Amino acid sequence: MKSVMKEKLFKNFICNDWVESVSQETIKSINPANKEEIVGFVQNSTKEDLEKAVQAAHRAKKSWRKLGQVARGQLLFKVANIIEENLDGIAETMTREMGKTLPEAKGETARGVAILRYYAGEGMRKDGDVIPATDKDALMFTKRAPLGVVGVITPWNFPVAIPIWKIAPALVYGNTVVLKPATEVAVTSAKVIECFTKAGFPEGVINFITGSGSVIGQALIDHPLLNAITFTGSEGVGDVVAKSAAARGIKFQLEMGGKNPVIITKDADLDAAVEAVVSGGFRSTGQKCTASSRVIVETSIYDAFREKLVNSSKQITIGDGLKDGIWMGPCASESQFNTVRKYIEQGKNEGASLVLGGDILTGEEYDKGFYIEPTIFENVNSDMTIAQEEIFGPVIALIKADGLEEAIDIANNTKYGLSASIFTSNISSLLEFIDEIDAGLVRINAESAGVELQAPFGGMKASSTGAREQGEAAKEFFTSIKTVFIKG
Ligand code: NAD
Repeated sequence: MKSVMKEKLFKNFICNDWVESVSQETIKSINPANKEEIVGFVQNSTKEDLEKAVQAAHRAKKSWRKLGQVARGQLLFKVANIIEENLDGIAETMTREMGKTLPEAKGETARGVAILRYYAGEGMRKDGDVIPATDKDALMFTKRAPLGVVGVITPWNFPVAIPIWKIAPALVYGNTVVLKPATEVAVTSAKVIECFTKAGFPEGVINFITGSGSVIGQALIDHPLLNAITFTGSEGVGDVVAKSAAARGIKFQLEMGGKNPVIITKDADLDAAVEAVVSGGFRSTGQKCTASSRVIVETSIYDAFREKLVNSSKQITIGDGLKDGIWMGPCASESQFNTVRKYIEQGKNEGASLVLGGDILTGEEYDKGFYIEPTIFENVNSDMTIAQEEIFGPVIALIKADGLEEAIDIANNTKYGLSASIFTSNISSLLEFIDEIDAGLVRINAESAGVELQAPFGGMKASSTGAREQGEAAKEFFTSIKTVFIKG
């Protein structure tokens, strides 16, 4: 630990104290645009550290619940203001740590502020309903009760928005929290937690611990004092979380992968469709769970659409997201970079043809980073690996369809069902799409990768399990209902 530069060292936050891990070990976080740049060091925590965090959250449960919803909401307003004051610094750290461009990082941080204000306001909204009792002299009503200690496990692709959209509702509805962020972005998450600490939460209400998923993540989900777990990440880890939580009968919520389709019908506005596919497929280097990864185009307009899509994608400027004029940054990590390359090779080997990209970027500007060209495949069969598995990189598969019915069948031919979009000007086509598509987010003439913080968010099939996130829906997960009957 001695060799680590002090200003770059981030500790765990347990029981209102920034503490080093008992392991005395740290994990290095690097800039994917320049792997020689160290963004910071976080704690390589042990089960002993995790135990302290969960115990602190457990001890804080009662007094936090008793504080009341309005007062809890007021604290969230304070956090929102503090994050807003620090927005530029947090966004810059995010760009350095995971590679998304600075405007996107600022947009995500501003979204985090808006989510906090939404749930701060929730502190002043109703927490139950009056229901008429059969006995006219009795009063019957429901009241929401917190779950207790909530474990929050988050991925690397939205290091500010995802932790906040889980922590904010957890806290306002009266739960205490232990957050374990993805190690790749733990410095950015630490900066967000610093803002929470400045707002003055009571001891143990919010705890932050970094380290390996298979060590402390696993210990968190297996902990007997945990009352619920909210997880966003890959399907494989989601399965592990589900098994552990189900075995102990605690509530769990899983948000996982997507293989999101965009259907372009023959009567679509092709320019609008191209703009949405470029943005949905390549923004954030394709590393969004709602990214447009399969584009299903009616055969009669396929050539025209393909030409416009390729021309538009060629305009994308790639580089270090901190620089002005850059539209797409690197892959977030070396491991993600290698995964995307593996999928591109697999696409070629299975017989798909490249119409754009397919390679890494080289040259002085790119050699120190994890850069991959925006890549478009065609002659893709719906059963190929690149049309079935989540790539999580700047790769789009173009698939032809003869008519809407076939397009929807292709769109539904995956295990996932997160987001799906259609571009059409035909009302009966869009109505059929709304009814027939297997997706939690159904988007008409809009890109697949759009999220409204006040609306339910989540998917079908292997994409999600448990209650929806965001907006009012979050209450379903973070509370349980008491039905109260008072005999007059
Ligand atoms: P990941 O599953 O590898 O890791 C997610 C988190 O789980 C990390 O904090 C990790 O440390 C932790 N973890 C790993 N092993 C664990 C274990 N055994 N027990 C407990 N925790 C463990 O996912 P990732 O690579 O960070 O994120 C990418 C994935 O997240 C993609 O599949 C993407 O689609 C998905 N995602 C989904 C949504 C959504 O809302 N549906 C949003 C963003 C990302």
